[in-house]
Amino acid sequence: MTSTILREMIHGRLPWEELRSVPRQSPADRLAGDEAVALLEKVLDEHLDALALDHDERMPDALVRALTDGGFLAMSLPRQDGGLGLSEYSAFRVYEAAAHRSPAVGMLLSAHNSMGPGTYLRALPEGPLRTLLAKHLAAGSLSAIASTEPEGAANSDRSAGARRTEDGTGYLLNGEKVFISNGSRARLVAVTATVEDSGGQVGLFFVEVPTPGFEVVAEHEYMGLRGAPSAHLRMTDVFVPVEHTVSAHAEWRSASPFAELHTVARIYLISAPSMAIARRCLDWSRSFVAGRRVDGRPLADYEAVQRMIAASAADVYAMDSAVRRALIGTEATESQWERDALKNITSLSGWRVADRAVSLCAAQGFETARSKAARGVPAYPVEQAQRDLRGLRIGGGVDFNLDRVLAARMLATYYRGGPERNPGGERPTPDALETGALSEANRDHLTALVQDVRRLGEVCAELTGSTPAPELLARQETLIAVNRIVTELFTTAVVLARAAWSDDEPQAQDLAAVHCHGARRRLTPLWDQVSQQLPEAYGRLSRAWMSGAPTDLLTP
Ligand SMILES: Cc1cc2nc3c(=O)[nH]c(=O)nc-3n(C[C@H](O)[C@H](O)[C@H](O)COP(=O)(O)OP(=O)(O)OC[C@H]3O[C@@H](n4cnc5c(N)ncnc54)[C@H](O)[C@@H]3O)c2cc1C
Repeated sequence: MTSTILREMIHGRLPWEELRSVPRQSPADRLAGDEAVALLEKVLDEHLDALALDHDERMPDALVRALTDGGFLAMSLPRQDGGLGLSEYSAFRVYEAAAHRSPAVGMLLSAHNSMGPGTYLRALPEGPLRTLLAKHLAAGSLSAIASTEPEGAANSDRSAGARRTEDGTGYLLNGEKVFISNGSRARLVAVTATVEDSGGQVGLFFVEVPTPGFEVVAEHEYMGLRGAPSAHLRMTDVFVPVEHTVSAHAEWRSASPFAELHTVARIYLISAPSMAIARRCLDWSRSFVAGRRVDGRPLADYEAVQRMIAASAADVYAMDSAVRRALIGTEATESQWERDALKNITSLSGWRVADRAVSLCAAQGFETARSKAARGVPAYPVEQAQRDLRGLRIGGGVDFNLDRVLAARMLATYYRGGPERNPGGERPTPDALETGALSEANRDHLTALVQDVRRLGEVCAELTGSTPAPELLARQETLIAVNRIVTELFTTAVVLARAAWSDDEPQAQDLAAVHCHGARRRLTPLWDQVSQQLPEAYGRLSRAWMSGAPTDLLTP
């Protein structure tokens, strides 16, 4: 696997020349995306009441049927096979458009398309499993992937078990799965389970529903993403023919092509709705602020408000730049690290934008859309945006835990040695860089970026040179800081490159300048976090609290 930009940056080098080619969709690809978005919007206009969906309604059957008829349950397939034949970025735009109207609808579509039969179909050879998946695609069956268990998704093992039948024709699945998107309505469920007597190997088993022993225990009700069917599932001796399984081997979940498929799935599931919600919050912030005066002065004239509006605009620009960089014109195997980084970049930036929107709209930000509609106030669902985004920070892996895992993968390249071991290789000096259309302020930010990237390489070399790998892996706060620094620097790099080489974006210089200023503020405490061990008092206090003391904190 050859990951480029992040691999360079973690080793102290800024690949500015590579960043120079700003990713753009071809006109034909753009048009295909526009057409699909227009078709989707027509379906949603006709069948979706987004406010009702957020208020305790089930996803209407008529909507799911219309989405199926429109080809939206086979989005990833080529046109000749009944799909929409979209590129990855055009598909992202469709998921974003769905989430723009209702994050729950976006979740239903992306969970099905990015982890369902269409996805696996492309990765499987001819045979009975491929035939099964094709059959369900043709029938428009909704699908789900069931991996998370009541014991916690972060465990590498799976408690659900698969026991080979005595006649060898299949497996019997037993176990429970929770938080499964589309779980209550899926007709095909891909289940992860540990194969008995295999040394703990986890396989993927495709279950056709309904089938004896397969039970929907309950539908989950979340604080956000309401209306998206999500379920707790139980399997008791569910039979799966042996040919309907992806053979278990220790590495399949992290090996090609499944690793790349799961990465793209997370982008569609998490980054597309994060992007949609952030854009909407930016829009609502403008509408609200434009209509307010405080003490005779437009609210938009106050410095603190301008800072928040500009910071949100810059966050949206940065999210959009990172998504384009990772998805347009790149191969999944080449850009896997950048793609994996998108989950936290988009959900955490989106969270900041939604939080600012709630602050700016104040009590109207806290008030539900239904309540606002009832009294004739513009019914922007700002509080829903924040509830929905909170779920996006959890789905696909909790943000801080993902930071830790991604940093460990990057730092492993130091321990493995080789030419990358020494971060003192060729690195550009700021003066030698071509700066395109960058303003003076942004040229200064580029200089700071080069220095920060170099500092990152030095910090990583120092950490890995002085600390054995198992010890560094235990320093989770350090790892979290490493990934947060890398993602801030990556986002800053793509933003500056876009501002340098896109001559058709009028606000690009200010968007970049505001982004860089905010990123540098966020970086300051991260440099402390990465270089200083957590004071021992944290561990002591946490252990004391977890063992039952001090109890007086629980009483007023
Ligand atoms: C909207 C949504 C949609 C979802 N869709 C699906 C789906 O379709 N299919 C599916 O299988 N699952 C799905 N999930 C489940 C989701 O992937 C998990 O909820 C998520 O990965 C977190 O797992 P968990 O809730 O089991 O928490 P756990 O993994 O138990 O984690 C609990 C806490 O421990 C922390 N933690 C875990 N490991 C470590 C560690 N080593 N060091 C330090 N801290 C650690 C976590 O960060 C977290 O704070 C969905 C969840 C949501 C919210």
